[in-house]
Amino acid sequence: MKIHEYQAKELFKQYGIKVPNSKLCERREDIETILKTMKMPCVIKAQVHSGARGKAGGVKLAANYEEAVKVADSILGMELKSKQAGLKKVNKILIEEGIDIEKELYLSLTFDRANESIAMIVSTQGGMDIEEVAKNSPEKIYTQQIGNDFNPIKIIEKMGFNEDISEKIANIVKKLYKLTIEKDALLVEINPLVITKQNEVIAIDAKINFDDNALFRHEEILLLKDESEENPLELQAQKEGLNYIKLDGTIGCMVNGAGLAMATMDVIRIAGKEAANFLDVGGGAGSEKIEKAFRLLISDKNIEAVFINIFGGILRCDFLAEGVKNAIQNLNINVAVIVRMEGTNKEIGAKILNDSGLKFTVVKDLNEAIEVIRKI
Ligand code: GDP
Ligand code: MN
Repeated sequence: MKIHEYQAKELFKQYGIKVPNSKLCERREDIETILKTMKMPCVIKAQVHSGARGKAGGVKLAANYEEAVKVADSILGMELKSKQAGLKKVNKILIEEGIDIEKELYLSLTFDRANESIAMIVSTQGGMDIEEVAKNSPEKIYTQQIGNDFNPIKIIEKMGFNEDISEKIANIVKKLYKLTIEKDALLVEINPLVITKQNEVIAIDAKINFDDNALFRHEEILLLKDESEENPLELQAQKEGLNYIKLDGTIGCMVNGAGLAMATMDVIRIAGKEAANFLDVGGGAGSEKIEKAFRLLISDKNIEAVFINIFGGILRCDFLAEGVKNAIQNLNINVAVIVRMEGTNKEIGAKILNDSGLKFTVVKDLNEAIEVIRKI
């Protein structure tokens, strides 16, 4: 789960990491009142779940009050280009007092799965072009696993800072580590972490991703979820207990079991098409849940056909057939539906579908499924 910069900065404050003075603004009519209380120059920052806001025009410096009003007015409500999600409407801005930047660093803690540990990544080349640095001069980025004897100061001193600054950075690393562990974060990133002209070290950006599987023990984090930032179909799926991820292809698929879902996506590929989603209805689904899942699936506008590939064990094929039949009857849809069922009550399931008067293609195996999907 992702949160906004302003929320991440609140958490930083709780952990004693310095951030600039700032105020959140959600309504146009509050812009002037808020700006009157802020020191100038200031920075206006779009609050959307997307990296590279700076490059997309979502972070702007304003020298004085009048300019700040203009900039705030233009960013609040704008549509910001985001790599991951197309255009995103800016519903909130963070108004922040400007910092005199001497140097921009990059600092993050993230999971190093291969080594089963958390890794610290740090670079003196922080700022908006960190991806370029990673590509063109990877030697400027230091990575260090955090183990029991971890002492960040050893690495940081090697980077050429004086003792005072090294200590300040090392302190921030320790606090970030505490936050990562206590809140079950998967990524905590400060880019840039800034050394100011006054020799302070301040986080002027903040990004935190949390482990969804640990949210059950962090009510306070769950409260930070901004539903307007989530994919609406995925959000609905979460509420209905379905394991759904939206993808870019045109063949909707419904499957039980994550492994079968992956195999099914391969099958769709072999047939020359791409999956429109990943949808695992789980083992224990009844016909009602199947109906819900099917509705969700076809509310994706990109879909040209649906492929249902179910191994009927705990989920019986007749339940599946009932659910799909009901969904189609109630929805009046006209995309092709290809069904492959295997396992418990598969004959009854096939009969329900064939007798429904609706158009299904019940295939006998995956080879036949491939042939049918290829012709769509
Ligand atoms: P991002 O593009 O979404 O990562 O947004 P950031 O919050 O990292 O801001 C982008 C850039 O704006 C930073 O790398 C800084 O160069 C600049 N910036 C942000 N806040 C300040 C500030 O208070 N003072 C100055 N001078 N520059 C800032
Ligand atoms: Mn940044």
